[in-house]
Parts: sequence; C-alpha cells; structure tokens
Amino acid sequence: MDSQSTAEEFGTRLARVEEAIAAACRQANRPRGEVQLMAVSKTHPASALLDAMASGLRIFGENRVQEYQQKAAQLATAGAPSAEVHLIGHLQSNKAARAAELFSAIDTVDSLRLAERLDEAAMRARKTLPILLEVKLSEEESKTGLAPEARELEELLERLPNLRSLSMRGLMTVAPITEDRQVTRSCFQSLRGLRDQLSSRHPRLDFSELSMGMSGDFEIAIEEGSTCIRIGTALFGAREAMR
Ligand SMILES: *Cc1c(COP(=O)(O)O)cnc(C)c1O
Repeated sequence: MDSQSTAEEFGTRLARVEEAIAAACRQANRPRGEVQLMAVSKTHPASALLDAMASGLRIFGENRVQEYQQKAAQLATAGAPSAEVHLIGHLQSNKAARAAELFSAIDTVDSLRLAERLDEAAMRARKTLPILLEVKLSEEESKTGLAPEARELEELLERLPNLRSLSMRGLMTVAPITEDRQVTRSCFQSLRGLRDQLSSRHPRLDFSELSMGMSGDFEIAIEEGSTCIRIGTALFGAREAMR
C-alpha cells in the first residue's frame, strides 16, 4: 500500500475518533479544547507518525527510549514538522539522561530517584522538562506507578519545587484491564479525587493535567475530567504484539 492511502486510512480513523471525543465532551458539558489527543505510536514505524502529522496531529506518545531514538532520526531525515513526543512507558533511572534529551515530556515519573535523575539530565541539556507523576490505582502486577498512599509520593511532592529543571504538570494513570465500565470509571474518579487532595496540600505545584483514557475507555475518561487521552489502536490499528 502506498503512503498516500495509509495517510487516508489514518484520516478516516482520526475522523471517527474525533467524532467520539466531541460526543463525550458534549455529554460531559466540556469544551473540546480541554482535551488533548495524544497519538500513541509505539510499535508503529516512523511513516505512521508522518501519516498522523499529515492529518495535523502534533502530540505523540512512545513507550521505549531506544525505539523512539531510531524513529526520531528517521523523522528528522524525512523533514518531519516539529511535534511534542511524550514518554508514556516505564523509564529506568539509568536511561533518564537519554530520555530527558530525546522527549518533550516524561509522563511516567514513578520514583523520587527517577525525578532526581531527570532533573540533573534536563539541567545539563539546558531544558525545562515537563513531567507527570504516574499513579498506580489497580492491583495488577504488571502496572507501574506510585501507590496513592505511598510515603514516596509525599516525599517526591515535597522535593519537586527544588528540582528546578522539572516542570510538574499533573498526574497520569492506566486503568485496569476489565470489561466492567464501572471499575474503569471509579479508577478515573480516584485519580481526579487524588489530584484534588494533593493539589490542596501542595498549592505551589501545578496539577492541571490528568492524563487518562485509551482507545477502549477514553469516553469515560473525558466524562471524569481527563485533559489528555492517549490513543493508539483506534488511530493506528492493532499492534502486532501486546506492549
Ligand atoms: C499503549 C498505551 C496506550 C494506547 O493504548 P490503546 O489501547 O492502543 O489506545 C495508552 N497509554 C499507555 C501508557 C500505553 O502504554
């Protein structure tokens, strides 16, 4: 298939997603402009990002440092327009320096140690790095993130104003895998409730972003206050392997 037709195919999927976003915003009585659409391009080639860019998308989510490093080089060669690319996968501290240089934002900060490493790296790279704290609200073993009751979360929030090369923007979570829409909804409600609680305890920190909602649950997330939905499958089609 030539690139023209995959770009068209992307445009069709995007129109469908946009329609569903608009409907969810109407349902929740929220302006469309309050919800950012992040295109999750993990596992897809650089050409898929180019197709999405041709449709006007400028915010992307990638989950692996090395994978995106390769795509970034290909995008530069292809003369791609500038875009915001967020890391949305788990980040090990030893890759913090590379991630801080490569990505526009890190949405999965889940430890004090990682935040400190990112701050040092961002300072060396002479940039201010926007971050979200990832919160784990389900029991699933595979999930990463800070538990809401963890002491480390409180320590991190106290330390953040001193990490001057990081710019705290809010919270992120991944809902548990379930068919039960009420479980999904209560997960999103918990993140929002936690945000309200933490922001009143830490008025100096910015908690305005709530990154929640994926292909299967973004309408619920929008109804519960999401400011950024992370959409992979509904835009790019199925990924080859579960990642
Ligand atoms: C893969 C991934 C997504 C996108 O998932 P889809 O169900 O394909 O929309 C969103 N957020 C995170 C953290 C992911 O890893």
